[in-house]
Amino acid sequence: MSASPDQQALNYYRQQYDEIGGRLLRVQQELTLACRDARRSRTIALIIQRLYESAHQAAPSEPMGEMLIGLLMESLRVDCAALLDWSEEGHQCQMKYGLGLAADFTLPLTKAPPLYAASLHPETLPVAARAALYAEGLCNWLWLAAPTVHLALLLGNRQLHKLDSDLVFEEADQVIATAVFKVYVGLLEQQRVTQALRVAETNYRTLFESAHEAFAVLDANTGVVLDANPRTADLLNCSLAELRGRLSLEWLADGAIPWKRYWRRALAGHPQQFECPIRTATNLACWVEIHLNRISIDRPLLLAVLRDVTERRQSEEQLRYHAFHDALTQLPNRALILERLAQAIQRRQRDPGYLFALLFLDLNRFSVINDSLGHSLGDLLLIAIGQRLCAYLRPEDSIARLGGDEFLILLMDLKHPDDAACCAERMERALVIPFAINQHDIYTSASIGIVLADDRYHEPEALLRDADIAMYAAKKRDAPYHRYTLFKPAMHDQALHIMELERDLRRAVDRREFLIHYQPVVHLASGRLKGFEALVRWRHPEHGLIVPNDFIPIAEETLLILPIGHLVLEEACRQVAVWANQYSPPPTVNVNLSGRQFTSTNLAGEIDQLVRQHDCDPALLNLEITESAIMSDVEAAQATLQRLHSQGFQLSMDDFGTGYSSLSYLHQFPFDVLKIDRSFIQALGQDLSRSKIVHTIIALARTLGKTVVAEGVETREQAEYLAVLGCDFGQGYYFSRPVDAETAEALLKDPPWLRPVKWGNES
Ligand code: C2E
Ligand code: CA
Ligand code: CA
Repeated sequence: MSASPDQQALNYYRQQYDEIGGRLLRVQQELTLACRDARRSRTIALIIQRLYESAHQAAPSEPMGEMLIGLLMESLRVDCAALLDWSEEGHQCQMKYGLGLAADFTLPLTKAPPLYAASLHPETLPVAARAALYAEGLCNWLWLAAPTVHLALLLGNRQLHKLDSDLVFEEADQVIATAVFKVYVGLLEQQRVTQALRVAETNYRTLFESAHEAFAVLDANTGVVLDANPRTADLLNCSLAELRGRLSLEWLADGAIPWKRYWRRALAGHPQQFECPIRTATNLACWVEIHLNRISIDRPLLLAVLRDVTERRQSEEQLRYHAFHDALTQLPNRALILERLAQAIQRRQRDPGYLFALLFLDLNRFSVINDSLGHSLGDLLLIAIGQRLCAYLRPEDSIARLGGDEFLILLMDLKHPDDAACCAERMERALVIPFAINQHDIYTSASIGIVLADDRYHEPEALLRDADIAMYAAKKRDAPYHRYTLFKPAMHDQALHIMELERDLRRAVDRREFLIHYQPVVHLASGRLKGFEALVRWRHPEHGLIVPNDFIPIAEETLLILPIGHLVLEEACRQVAVWANQYSPPPTVNVNLSGRQFTSTNLAGEIDQLVRQHDCDPALLNLEITESAIMSDVEAAQATLQRLHSQGFQLSMDDFGTGYSSLSYLHQFPFDVLKIDRSFIQALGQDLSRSKIVHTIIALARTLGKTVVAEGVETREQAEYLAVLGCDFGQGYYFSRPVDAETAEALLKDPPWLRPVKWGNES
């Protein structure tokens, strides 16, 4: 059965209507959807815009998080929204910003928290967390977490459905929330990075601008200065503008600094630190400490940190200068010349043909100048000597002052061994010309010891020692000129011997190993024994009895003569007192005094005290002094001799004829006795001129009212002849060798020279 046309039309229209209605519905739905999408997009855009503005505001009116919460609440029409502190490890999520929730709201998460959760799938949140949400009355919620910023977003509704279906909290809202939250997180991260960058940049700038150290950024390829701080400009005495673009190498003052090597190493990632001299823009020399570090950004750069260390270097240099130079003459000192000597030795070890020499120069009688003209003039003389000697040397040679009046001269690269002696002669000639200092013309001379380079020398000290030994040998020669001596190994043994002797001598003083022998002084005309000369001996525990000539010079040099002299004086005083009680007339005792005893001690006081102590008659003590002993300090000797004389002591001039032998001196000093040196006595009858001198001396002494003693009378003929000449007393082996006190007493009682009746009766 077919439908009526009306029915058919109705059906058609109904169909059409349905279709249209369906279409309309669909259109309407699409429209709604489109509308909602558009709104959603608009919402998203709006929120993002607001967030962006806030993020880029210098001083935002409210924190971005608070703004986000507000915007989401408003646009999604949710009941609550919150930002929670969240970390992947943390189980308690504390609220940072929130609206619509209790102020102390926390979300307990008992297991690893989810990045995304929603009430559409409630099981995604742990039970405890869900319980907390339900407790807040939420039945519809959304949870989003951002691990990078340790934040989570929570949105929630309290009623299940809203009146406005568009705004029902559903999946569409999740899209908005997710998008906005992502943007927020991104902005937050950006803000943090910018903040960190800004802090870093500020820190860097502060450091760069205000640091005490100078910084410069250098192009690692070209060495050009790209940037520098004001301190660098200060350091280099120029402006920052002048500095930028300049080659860093231009500032370096010394090519010796392996700058390129430091550069390469720093570039390879090994920070370098070194000091180097630079020249500033105003050509000022200074020292900087440089730290060179590689900075790797997009191209290789080097950061140079410079510190001005000029002051430190200068004081170091000064210290070094002082350590190696003599303060008075500014010449190199012992340490420096020893260093150069060590270099010369090394050079000779490499090249056996290389010849050098060391000269040890010691001024003669410098102490006399020092004592008579004063130390300040002595100092000026030393300076002048240093300068003059310097002028006589070649540039490759060096001269040093060892201290006192000792100089060392190192002659390098000699063509011939004789060149060293030539130089020594040159030095002597240099010193012959007098030095004009403070209106004084000062004459001086030196003794020079020379040691030539030799394969035996491995240590500079050994050369120095041998040059010293040679100098001593030169001093002993006592020649008026050519007082230089070349070192010979035999001298070394001698020096060793002297050293041992000195050591033993010190011990001997402590142990009082000295004794006195007495040699008679005989009245020539009668043969009567007047007294004795006390002559010291050293009873050495190994070497036996040692005569004074073998130890007195060392004792004088080491000043041990002072305690030794005291011992002799003491013993002599004691003996004089003993004999005075036993013999009539009492014998006199002569004591020898050294020049050192005059200059170094209060001699007159010392003797006076000893005399009192031993109750000895000063008239029985005769003090013997040589001319040279008083010559080292004439004024002091004169005063001491005057005082001793006024105290009643007899004074003898010893060894007359060997020194300056000026009879005029006899006037100036209160001598009672003159002892003619034995060299003249031994020449009697053999050497006419010397014999004549003996005549003259005796005649002159007599007219001056002095007593004359002849030393070294060895024969009867000499004794007789001297008696005829009018010489008062004689002393010598003819009468007796020096003997111990006991034997001396035997001589006193029974002088053997009187036995053959020759001198039987006194005249
Ligand atoms: P001197 O003062 O000229 O003493 C005389 C020296 O000549 C003594 O030597 C004596 O032994 C020696 N002699 C005496 N008669 C003869 C002789 O007929 N022929 C020869 N060839 N020699 C004779 P000695 O004892 O070795 O003393 C040497 C020097 O040592 C002394 O020379 C004196 O300057 C010094 N001396 C001795 N004792 C002392 C002392 O206690 N203190 C100081 N400072 N010097 C002393
Ligand atoms: Ca004597
Ligand atoms: Ca003598």
